[in-house]
Amino acid sequence: MMRPSNDVVWDDVLGYVRTRHPSVARGWFLQLQAGQMEAGELPVLAANQAQLDYLNEHCLQAFIEAAQAATGRLVSVRFATVEGDGRGRAPASAPRVMSASGAVLPLNEGYVFENFVVGPCNRLAHASCVAVSDSPGTAYNPLFLHGSVGLGKTHLLQAVCYRVAAGTPAARIMYLSCEMFVNGFIDAVEHGALEAFRSRYRGVDLLVIDDVQFLSGREGTQEEFFHTFNTLHQYRKQIILSADSPPAEIPSLEERLVSRFNWGLVARIDPPGLETRLAIIRKKTKLRGMELPEDAELFIASCVKSNTRELEGALNRVHGLATFEDRPIDLALVREALGDQGTGPAKRMRIQDIMSLVTERFSVKLSDLQGRRRSKSVALPRQVGMYLARHFTEHSLEEIGGFFGGRDHTTVLHACKLIGSRRETNVGFRSELEDLEAALRQLG
Ligand code: ADP
Ligand code: MG
Repeated sequence: MMRPSNDVVWDDVLGYVRTRHPSVARGWFLQLQAGQMEAGELPVLAANQAQLDYLNEHCLQAFIEAAQAATGRLVSVRFATVEGDGRGRAPASAPRVMSASGAVLPLNEGYVFENFVVGPCNRLAHASCVAVSDSPGTAYNPLFLHGSVGLGKTHLLQAVCYRVAAGTPAARIMYLSCEMFVNGFIDAVEHGALEAFRSRYRGVDLLVIDDVQFLSGREGTQEEFFHTFNTLHQYRKQIILSADSPPAEIPSLEERLVSRFNWGLVARIDPPGLETRLAIIRKKTKLRGMELPEDAELFIASCVKSNTRELEGALNRVHGLATFEDRPIDLALVREALGDQGTGPAKRMRIQDIMSLVTERFSVKLSDLQGRRRSKSVALPRQVGMYLARHFTEHSLEEIGGFFGGRDHTTVLHACKLIGSRRETNVGFRSELEDLEAALRQLG
């Protein structure tokens, strides 16, 4: 698969916007950068706030279309400035958080308490984070959060950083992943710079280290961390740690560290129950300005069970499809975006099966689907075929164009939009299409 952060693909995205949407394109688009694609969303980074405002106001649709055309995937686009996108309600100025190199480390601006949904699964973890933010160094020290991936540990840890920074602007806060600590230590040893390394970590008021399971089996770093921990603890500096399991279950972690990690409060985060998942969906859709009917919310909440990050991925797919086909979000669209089981569209079909179904139902020949004729009697089946191929196979737009007589990806994209909007406006056509889809599902 092509990676959207890949320069070539990014050039395609920009090229597409320029040629298909010349009226919104601007010279400074050359300054835009593509971020790392995550959960079906491509971050597009502007150099400043003015650019960001322009993009949000005029260009979302064009970039989503372009990103989908360039990658051949159902992706969404989010604009941000190089410093952050202002999503959520973070304080106007991000806290000064130092990274291992002493540079300011960007936090995710959306990871604030206001955006965190509290439920039975995370109540203790949330309450202890709030308590620690309000009286660092005295409430629980250390605070140790654990839970499996995607359940909000990083979100809570960063929320503490924001809250402490807002309450005590002078506080020296250090948030980092354990991996950075480990690498920083190795580097310091190699370069004989241990003293500098030590003073960097031991001179802070709040030390937050994410994913400490990364210390597992790294004896040298564990030893170093042990001393850092003791120094900070002795001076009542707050320490907050997270991991994917409780201290005693982190493999090859020295006993003395296990015992220290248990000194304060250990709080577990469990997977969210249905009610909490629903509340998270509502919170996230509101933050994105999306509107979902209740049955659609319920469908998403009941498909994605174990991991909140996947919930976000599902919302991105729904948002992507709605924008791509310019349709309102309803249950049918959500089912289509996520598949009936919510595990993603049924993508197992062979394009040959789609072709033969279409030729049979519309009484056209394969050579018609692949030929050049543009009369309505063959153009419509051809477009339906492309639309179905897009939804039921993993093939990219280019590949689908190839199957349909070597057409280019913009033709396929155009067909998908056309069929998508016809589906919305024409009830008879819609039921015909649903018939075809049901027939395909039976084949698959
Ligand atoms: P972890 O660090 O435990 O792997 P993250 O903190 O990265 O998980 O969370 C994954 C995603 O899920 C983030 O986008 C986060 O905002 C979101 N998330 C997790 N739990 C919640 C919650 N209770 N309320 C709102 N968003 C949540
Ligand atoms: Mg994390």
